[in-house]
Amino acid sequence: MELTRLPFLKSALKSRYSQLAVFIVMLVGYIFVILAGLIGTPVGSHNFSIVFVWIAWWAILILVAVPFFGRGWCAVCPIPLPGEWLQRGAVLNPPDKKPRWLNLRWPKFLRNIWLQNISFLLLALFSSVLLTTPNITGIVLAAMLFAAIGLSMIFERRAFCRYLCPVGGFIGLYSQTAPIELRIKDKQVCVVCDGKPCYNGASTVGLDVQRLNPPLSANSNTGYGCPWDVFPGGLTKNTYCGLCMECIRTCPHDNIAINLRPFSADLAKPSTRLDEAFKAFIMLGSAMIYAGVLLGPWGAFKDAAYNVGTSAWFIYATIFLAIIFAILPGFFWLMISLTSRPFAKHPFGAPIGRGVGVRKFASLTTALIPLGLMFWVAFSLSFVLTNATYILASLSDPLGLGWNLFGTANAVWQPMLTSILAPAQTLALVGGLIWSARTAQKAANEVKVSSVPVVIYCFITTLVMLGLLL
Ligand code: SF4
Ligand code: SF4
Ligand code: SF4
Repeated sequence: MELTRLPFLKSALKSRYSQLAVFIVMLVGYIFVILAGLIGTPVGSHNFSIVFVWIAWWAILILVAVPFFGRGWCAVCPIPLPGEWLQRGAVLNPPDKKPRWLNLRWPKFLRNIWLQNISFLLLALFSSVLLTTPNITGIVLAAMLFAAIGLSMIFERRAFCRYLCPVGGFIGLYSQTAPIELRIKDKQVCVVCDGKPCYNGASTVGLDVQRLNPPLSANSNTGYGCPWDVFPGGLTKNTYCGLCMECIRTCPHDNIAINLRPFSADLAKPSTRLDEAFKAFIMLGSAMIYAGVLLGPWGAFKDAAYNVGTSAWFIYATIFLAIIFAILPGFFWLMISLTSRPFAKHPFGAPIGRGVGVRKFASLTTALIPLGLMFWVAFSLSFVLTNATYILASLSDPLGLGWNLFGTANAVWQPMLTSILAPAQTLALVGGLIWSARTAQKAANEVKVSSVPVVIYCFITTLVMLGLLL
């Protein structure tokens, strides 16, 4: 179903003014959160930056935005904006003269998400401190803003979003499961479209509108080429489309649509990239480790995670990385290779396939995407419902200066909805298992192997996650 058929939605998405209004609110909020982290109370549970980012924003992101809107957060995220405005030399429409920044192409060998994997792991390894120390949260948020600005001055388009942002990496992975997509309407229109302004920007066409094929009206919109370095005409999955809506404005043929679709439609065509496969392991493993560290009963494990720089922390970091880069992928590899030897038969007699190459391995990890998402949903339910009452207190006194703006500054901490927590988490995990089993079947069909080992792997990891959470 095409949502952009709704006239009010289409004009809201095309309007640079409505988007700018949202961006300004988000940017002001972001800067306020940085300031609250740097100058607010050092008590994490009462500091607006900690409470707002790691409880409220996280809950909205993982429970609502990613599952239902994919990269919806990236559509309103303020982090790339100052850099992008400087890079373009304009806040709204393309200017007559562009500023002379370096505008380099991003290096070819880095055109993957390994840097995003590393940046996420860095945050994950230090997360115990990040989640509890306001000034560290403030510094990290400010660093992301300045890194995005710096990269915009050196490289073309949104290099930070596309290749470095630790949040964007996992949003991109899980956005494939969302029931929403931005796609072209008619491939043939793109084939004959002169200049491909959705990628190159309208100004490169010279706007000699009557010579274009097909000819355009003289008042066609000008616009920028895709900031995410994606050719919209070739989009087949959500991963790298930041839903910035620029191509909707720039396409002179009105050939871009936002569609409602079934959940996880992108996963029918599995990716064969190893960087994306490891992103799935990183997210799956991090959810399990966080459940153990933040919610589990193991005090020594928790102490090790919090005491950054000590020998206990190094052991914790080594175990963390071993789980993500060796144990989880190694076990996965073992499961699929044991049953994929030439001439092997799976337990029900059907032939399984010949050997496991990187392509098969990466394709089959597609099944871990819905599983990982539901692990995060289950973990976040616990984390968020336990700490949600802090939101009320910090809203009334965001900087810890003794204010009581909404009369809730002294709200007493208490976990919320405790009676439904365990059933809701079980439902999320079982739902995730069923979802990944169905995804595994499709991925296995694509690479012509059995899905049974992958389903068993998902079953075992789900049991472990249930044990950690309940
Ligand atoms: S990739 Fe990161 S910085 Fe870029 S829009 Fe998304 S969340 Fe924001
Ligand atoms: S999406 Fe629009 S601008 Fe881009 S190639 Fe297709 S018709 Fe041309
Ligand atoms: S320009 Fe279009 S394809 Fe590119 S990121 Fe924005 S919405 Fe996605």
